[in-house]
Amino acid sequence: MLMGGLFRSYIQQNGNQREFKMVKEIGHFIGGKQVKGTSGRFADIFNPNTGEVQAKVALASKAEMRAAVENAKAAQPAWAAKNPQFRARVMMKFLDLAAKHKEELATLISMEHGKTVPDALGDLQRGVEVAEFACGVPHLLKGEFSDGAGPGIDMYSMRQALGVVAGITPFNFPAMIPLWKCAPAIAAGNAFIMKPSERDPSCPMRIAELFLEAGLPPGILNVVNGDKESVDAILNDPDIKAVGFVGSTAIAQYVYAGATATGKRAQCFGGAKNHMVIMPDADMNQAVDALIGAGYGSAGERCMAISVAVPVGEGTANALIDKLVPRVEKLKIGLSTDREADYGPLVTKQALDRVKSYIDIGVKEGATLKVDGRGFKMQGYENGYFLGGSLFDNVTKDMRIYKEEIFGPVLGVLRAKTYDEALGLCNDHEYGNGVAIYTRDGDAARDFASKVQVGMVGVNVPIPVPLAYHTFGGWKASSFGDLNQHGPDSIRFYTKTKTVTSRWPSGTKEGAQFSIPTMR
Ligand code: NAD
Repeated sequence: MLMGGLFRSYIQQNGNQREFKMVKEIGHFIGGKQVKGTSGRFADIFNPNTGEVQAKVALASKAEMRAAVENAKAAQPAWAAKNPQFRARVMMKFLDLAAKHKEELATLISMEHGKTVPDALGDLQRGVEVAEFACGVPHLLKGEFSDGAGPGIDMYSMRQALGVVAGITPFNFPAMIPLWKCAPAIAAGNAFIMKPSERDPSCPMRIAELFLEAGLPPGILNVVNGDKESVDAILNDPDIKAVGFVGSTAIAQYVYAGATATGKRAQCFGGAKNHMVIMPDADMNQAVDALIGAGYGSAGERCMAISVAVPVGEGTANALIDKLVPRVEKLKIGLSTDREADYGPLVTKQALDRVKSYIDIGVKEGATLKVDGRGFKMQGYENGYFLGGSLFDNVTKDMRIYKEEIFGPVLGVLRAKTYDEALGLCNDHEYGNGVAIYTRDGDAARDFASKVQVGMVGVNVPIPVPLAYHTFGGWKASSFGDLNQHGPDSIRFYTKTKTVTSRWPSGTKEGAQFSIPTMR
């Protein structure tokens, strides 16, 4: 494995005590090799199980970003000139390597993010599926052809790569989202600058190494680690033609405004508050299973997590709460290395404190805290970022715990009197990423799917993340810009269309035409 060998050790002094510790230093992956950061700025990467610093990641300066872009720009034309089957075969070889190294990649994710290894394997798999889709790039790039559009005239269109493009990704899916961004873009012939989350960059770095091993030319996939400075450098770089962003809504808006102000294409996906409506006729056991998995899996750190349950009618609400409370109390919280755990620690102390503060807020706002996870401690790992599952009943729509994204293992129950009230809640909410309805009534399900103002809808499916050959994207404050992620939209986003009108034989006896040409 290239990775460990090329990292130099970093010596950290622990407070005033004369203790020294060796931690890994993570640089960047530029021009087909690991390079050290030169800005002198680093961010700590924590082990979420213990709270200890386990690595330092370099934070790129504007000059380092510029150097990476220059490198990518130099490499891109030769890559775009390869035939699409050649590029697809590199993607296929990457798939072989990703399968061979899946446990290693999942362990890297789990170590830095805190999700369990089985969950990390799923994170990788949903990214790999987009790389599988990108293997169809020879077909996906095919244009359209009109024979005989006029006398001796044919018209055809083609899709061409944009050049150098970028992806800025969040901490919560360190394999899936980087692959959603880079696989279609590079298959289409672009060079890619990846700016992963500074909380868990090791998996994206390793993915870039595996692409190189698969035959991707140096400079086509670059990982530049960093924070706001490197994001701003991307937004202001004239050679970057498109930016795909995923993260919180405030930053999505910032990136969208910055990227479009400099004339780039931008698609920026933001936060979420996903509702699950439970109709009186729903299979209650199935609904409770769905809520437990979708509300608490991955410690609630998923943009498609269900964070609000909306039972319709008092009887439905009471039955739901009776079944939910013991299930939430029995959740098995474990180390990220525990394959049997329901979920592991949160990503950082900052995230843990933020989620706990929302539980405090919910209590102050008057919601009923049926299960309180704040007191949970993992024996022997008291400094880890663990939090028990929490459940609120009697949440109302004016509460901050309803309006804002908590992004932790906290589920709120908002009781609706009618189906129309439940639908209205989903439609009036600021966010519109995912939503689900649990019912046995086909009419209700159909009406809901048609009328709900949310981008991804599940009918008796709690986390309706579309598969790689469909597209993924929310509505309202969950997405800014045009076109969705993965599926055919990903190829559209990372390519531009050229339309050619040609006349053979070229000789014309019409003379000069001064009015706009038309076909009669
Ligand atoms: P984040 O917004 O803090 O970070 C996302 C990216 O933006 C990171 O690469 C980070 O380095 C960068 N960034 C952070 N602060 C910045 C700033 N001030 N200026 C410029 N760049 C900055 O998000 P996160 O905490 O890593 O991820 C969680 C969020 O992502 C949640 O809100 C979640 O809902 C959302 N998310 C959305 C989707 C989706 O498809 N809609 C998918 C996954 C996660």
